Amino acid sequence: MPSVVTVPAEAQAGSNFNANRATEAYLAQIPPDAKARSDSYFQGGYWLILWDFLYAVAVALLLLNLRWSAKFRDVAERITRLKPLQTFLYWCQYAIIAFVLSLPISIYEGYLREHKYGLATQTFGPWMGDQLKALLLSVVLGGLVVTALFGIVRRLRETWWIWGAVVTFIFFTIGVLISPVFIAPMFNTYKRLDDPKITGPILSLARANGIPVRDVFKVDASRQSTRMSANVSGLGGTMRITLNDNLLNRASPEEVQAVMGHEMGHYVLNHVYKLLLFGGVIIFLFFALLRWGLNWSLARWGERWQVRELVDPAIIPLVFLIASIFFFVLTPITNTYVRTQEHEADMYGINASRQPDGFAQAAIHLGEYRKMSPGIWEERIFFDHPSGRNRIHDAMQWKAENIALMESHGEK
Ligand SMILES: [Zn+2]
Repeated sequence: MPSVVTVPAEAQAGSNFNANRATEAYLAQIPPDAKARSDSYFQGGYWLILWDFLYAVAVALLLLNLRWSAKFRDVAERITRLKPLQTFLYWCQYAIIAFVLSLPISIYEGYLREHKYGLATQTFGPWMGDQLKALLLSVVLGGLVVTALFGIVRRLRETWWIWGAVVTFIFFTIGVLISPVFIAPMFNTYKRLDDPKITGPILSLARANGIPVRDVFKVDASRQSTRMSANVSGLGGTMRITLNDNLLNRASPEEVQAVMGHEMGHYVLNHVYKLLLFGGVIIFLFFALLRWGLNWSLARWGERWQVRELVDPAIIPLVFLIASIFFFVLTPITNTYVRTQEHEADMYGINASRQPDGFAQAAIHLGEYRKMSPGIWEERIFFDHPSGRNRIHDAMQWKAENIALMESHGEK
């Protein structure tokens, strides 16, 4: 993508400004080879949704049918008689083996493919280091969740799925709220920005939108990738605005303001809390399906897998098998939910920042890894953000409706 996107002649404010023409003029700035590359990267992602799903199913079936899962449980039972500890020891073995079996597809998807498209900056060693850190987190935090859930199944044989959903929802909420403050810093370095030239306009935009924040942080996202991003995160004392270094290094000041307006939109519109509510509904539906799916499968294949009953931790691969099917089928719905929120944040951001051209520039930069002009259904099914074309059009429509404002402020 062009690193500096200028405002094309057709998008300059004037009496014959037209949103459609301005949109096309912006899109015309993308060189054909950059477009082909981005389309190919993003469309490959559609297939990855399918391959990831089939791969996860294969791993689960392997662990069950070869009775490895049953053997992990036997090992755990031999080490201790304490049920919660048995569950945790089973989980350690499962998490490590599932990680190892999934390595081929994660290396292709997360490392080789990202490098092929010039989106990754890490060499293999540090990349693998991050994967191992994530594995350790999954062993410890996942182990905590799984041990709690099996405790519930052992005590509440009839209503476990309701209480399981409640406890999972509580863990999910804690995870969403603490991860920007406690988990993300394990993978990247956060530094307070002191340059008033950068922080001044951002904090001014925050004050103008009633956001009680005093600090702006920079995160070294360039350690992993070339993607630009920012966010508003935390609660109370930990409230902060974070810009990643790719955004700071590559974006124009107008573009930074437009992106910050978008992120502030997420905050002001309470998107995190709405997402938690949506997540709660999904978790509840999942547990209802799980109750039925586990009983149905155990009745048919329980003996063959040597999985005894619901309280047996050896059932875990089956839980992940059902989860894979559930979330695969739900992909268009979760994408549409998130994309709708993103569109709301877009509109809020354009209104707050009054930088339609900065917004169009950002849409083009983000087009490095997201197809710019998909079909209607393609966008509805596969996109978790509005497409670049729609984002530019939204910005240009706003500019058309506010043309007097744009003209009196002079073209930027
Ligand atoms: Zn967003």
